Amino acid sequence: MKGLQFDLLDLAPEGKTLEGDLECAEFDLNELLRRTFTAPIHYQLKLTPINGGHDLLVQGTLSSRLTVICDRCDEPFDWKLTVPEICHEYENAFGTTVDLTDDLREDILISFPQQFLCREDCQGLCPQCGKNLNLGPCDCPETTEDSAEEFPAEESPWSGLDRLRLP
Ligand SMILES: [Zn+2]
Ligand SMILES: [Zn+2]
Repeated sequence: MKGLQFDLLDLAPEGKTLEGDLECAEFDLNELLRRTFTAPIHYQLKLTPINGGHDLLVQGTLSSRLTVICDRCDEPFDWKLTVPEICHEYENAFGTTVDLTDDLREDILISFPQQFLCREDCQGLCPQCGKNLNLGPCDCPETTEDSAEEFPAEESPWSGLDRLRLP
């Protein structure tokens, strides 16, 4: 059986608590770019029948560990995954087998930050020589105002408009 599937034929009215570990491959999360799971995905889930036992409520948490690549300096670092508040409802689930795999994979991916940074103030790489500036300054000449324009530190929200080409 792949992923997290539960047979609900014998789910008691008071529900059931499940805890265990699953390999990331079970969630199809083993081939993520720049993010590698270094521990199984630990789940703690409570399955409760609701609406007179027709529907199923799933609540709980997920946790794991990953090695991720910093999006600024390209160095790998450890990152702890925590999905603190899982909450899903499944209609007419009672008496069937319910598959939580897709919804939980989604929960995991949504919990990733838009940008992984090894530290809040990561200095990144020098745009000219590529040196990791966290290890110290490089020998490139000081950025003058001209080159500062070539490598804007932050794009203004309107800069995308300049690139728009209307037919
Ligand atoms: Zn970094
Ligand atoms: Zn440099």
